[in-house]
Amino acid sequence: MVKTPLSTPDVRAAGWRFDNSYDRLPAPFHSRVKPTPVEKPQLVVFNRALALELGLDPDALEGGVASAVFAGNELPTGAEPIAQAYADHQFGNLTRLGDGRAILLGEHLTPSGKRFDIQLKGSGPTPYSRRGDGRAALGPMLREYVISEAMHGLGIPTTRSLAVVTTGEPVFREEPLQGAVLTRVAASHIRVGTFELFAALGDTGSLGQLCDHTLRRHFADRVGDGNPALALLHGVLERQAILLAHWLRVGFVHGVMNTDNMALSGETLDYGPCAFIDAYDPGAVFSSIDHNGRYAFGAQPRIAGWNLARFAEALLPLLHPEPEHALALAQEALATFEERSRHHWLVAFRAKLGLFTEEPGDLGVATDLLLGLHRMSADHTHTFRGLVPGPAPTAFPWTDPGLGEWHRRWNDRLARQPQSAAEVGERMRSNNPAVIPRNHVVEAMLHAAVSQGDFDPFHRLLDGLADPYVDAGKPATLTDPPPADTPRCRTFCGT
Ligand code: AMP
Ligand code: MG
Repeated sequence: MVKTPLSTPDVRAAGWRFDNSYDRLPAPFHSRVKPTPVEKPQLVVFNRALALELGLDPDALEGGVASAVFAGNELPTGAEPIAQAYADHQFGNLTRLGDGRAILLGEHLTPSGKRFDIQLKGSGPTPYSRRGDGRAALGPMLREYVISEAMHGLGIPTTRSLAVVTTGEPVFREEPLQGAVLTRVAASHIRVGTFELFAALGDTGSLGQLCDHTLRRHFADRVGDGNPALALLHGVLERQAILLAHWLRVGFVHGVMNTDNMALSGETLDYGPCAFIDAYDPGAVFSSIDHNGRYAFGAQPRIAGWNLARFAEALLPLLHPEPEHALALAQEALATFEERSRHHWLVAFRAKLGLFTEEPGDLGVATDLLLGLHRMSADHTHTFRGLVPGPAPTAFPWTDPGLGEWHRRWNDRLARQPQSAAEVGERMRSNNPAVIPRNHVVEAMLHAAVSQGDFDPFHRLLDGLADPYVDAGKPATLTDPPPADTPRCRTFCGT
């Protein structure tokens, strides 16, 4: 493909093609507000590959002046900045909020016609900021960048990260920190909480508009399925079941699954206190504010179900004019979530175990392995990767007698399918990552970048995570469990 150079590297042009459908929704949906300019914007990370995927001109965007756009000091051509309104169940309690420190510049259309929200996070106060400063610190923005790109590499639906700029201004948390702005790219930022807002306001008109907008935008194949709210509910249930199966297959803990952090597109949204498990433990909690383990690793499907029940509740006035009938429809749909979750989980774990065929005992084979890993505190990623047939599968915790028995059972199961060892190996290699963003490595990388201005570990980590199913060239720090004396990782919301 011949690249047409822009006559002047105009960062306000740079290939942006905005069509802002959310901005065209009426007043209650958002507030028009511009990013607050910052003192001294400086581009510290830029995602060239993503820029190319979006049909943007990376050379124009990486130049010195581009930092002004990624900081919100200059608006790209066609941007119509808004802060989106939404409500939220935070740790179970309903509050009313909206983008308190994020501003949606608009929706960019790629050359192939795909629509993406372009959002600045940390770009200054909005009418929804309450007592917050609307700002973000460098560490958490780099964290979101790395983890979201790692999730993308793992093949998991997620928002993406296009750039991080430092602002040249401090943000005051417990201590002064470097301010930063992240440019987030998402299928949309419509959340369960967006529906909860209009349900709480009793604004059924807006609720209906939001339902139509979301259905058209994310579930075009379900438009015209009769009852739009029911079609949307089923579509969202299915995508969340798929997403949760992905999280569980790689050991991802979101950390703050409040209803404002559940995107209806089915993408992973809002990387605050997230982490990856090392040792397998369904009770693993990393977030410093999750005292009761509400969002523990193994609790995530149940919490997703809880959030989806709030979503269904919000949809009630649209589901049917008779409340009892509406409730019956909602309950019937919600009842499918457990089965959908189990189905997608089993699809994912059959793939991890190299199974092509289906047998009724497969669920037991998968769960018995996990029970063994839990007993042994064995490393989740390393053990599964170590099971891949190869010259030296060293990782398996053979010392557990139950697991020795399990290994024979699994081999017998493999022998009952027609696929060759090579096919099994290939399937397992492409479903069990060799590397994940291990917490201790992420913490060390953040320390180097934030405290010493050394971004080499950041780029090395990104490189290692770009193709996580390939062993070659991966550092042992990413493939191996953390050293035994590694302190337990604590994560923070970073607000
Ligand atoms: P989060 O935990 O990042 O999902 O944020 C929850 C809510 O608090 C969202 O509405 C955010 O916009 C808001 N928020 C978080 N940090 C700030 C901040 N520094 N200033 C203003 N609002 C914030
Ligand atoms: Mg959030």
